[in-house]
Amino acid sequence: MSLPCNPEGLRRLFLAVWPADAECRQLAELAANVAGRRRVRDANLHLTLVFLDATDAERLAAYETALAGLMVPTLVLILDRYGYWPRSRILWLGCSETPPALVDLVADLHRRLRGCGFSPEQRAFQAHVTLARNFPGPAPKQAPTASVHWPIEEVALVESLQGETGSYYRVVRSWPAGCSGG
Ligand code: ATP
Ligand code: MG
Repeated sequence: MSLPCNPEGLRRLFLAVWPADAECRQLAELAANVAGRRRVRDANLHLTLVFLDATDAERLAAYETALAGLMVPTLVLILDRYGYWPRSRILWLGCSETPPALVDLVADLHRRLRGCGFSPEQRAFQAHVTLARNFPGPAPKQAPTASVHWPIEEVALVESLQGETGSYYRVVRSWPAGCSGG
């Protein structure tokens, strides 16, 4: 099925860990508690692994080929700390200890995508779920009352679209954890 794209035929894409319903509910509850009306809408909660930005059809086909057989490890993310980035005014939830397997997964994605001409970000990967945008800060001093234990189920290739009330996302395809997908 073809998806809508902008007049130049470019899609704004990213690779992310997508929450299942149970984790989405926990993330949404935390977001509502700490950020109220500034919270990210429930359906938008995710953890970005690689931001691909504006992508044409040819490049997308190359990415899909490069990602064939991607091995997504079975791992549990433990999201147990808040953070705040003042420049982007983003409140986020992250991990005190990022699982090495997640760091390896991002490195594998970069290695595969580099062969298609993609330039990965220079700054180190920081696993986080954005809970609120345009947040005045600072982050709550206390850690979350209950950390979110998130057994990752899939990595998704996601398209970011503009709706009347802001960005929304559409999963283009996904690779389940624990098996090497085609
Ligand atoms: P909006 O930009 O409308 O506030 P958004 O940031 O969620 O919403 P996108 O900008 O399309 O939507 O971003 C999609 C995902 O990619 C988000 O997780 C976002 O944090 C991440 N992202 C966006 N721009 C970058 C960037 N320049 N570098 C790294 N990650 C990015
Ligand atoms: Mg953005």
